[in-house]
Amino acid sequence: MPVDPVCGIEMDEGLAISFEYNNKKYYFCCEGCKGIFKRKPKKYNNS
Ligand SMILES: [Zn+2]
Repeated sequence: MPVDPVCGIEMDEGLAISFEYNNKKYYFCCEGCKGIFKRKPKKYNNS
């Protein structure tokens, strides 16, 4: 199951909001978390 890197919630892949960054797919529980990630992707990008 994908984990939201911002809030740490596990969610169903079908319900998650996906966003691609650096050729890697990230999943978010809501637009809010996606917005936070987009503003500071390096903070949550652990690769
Ligand atoms: Zn979230």
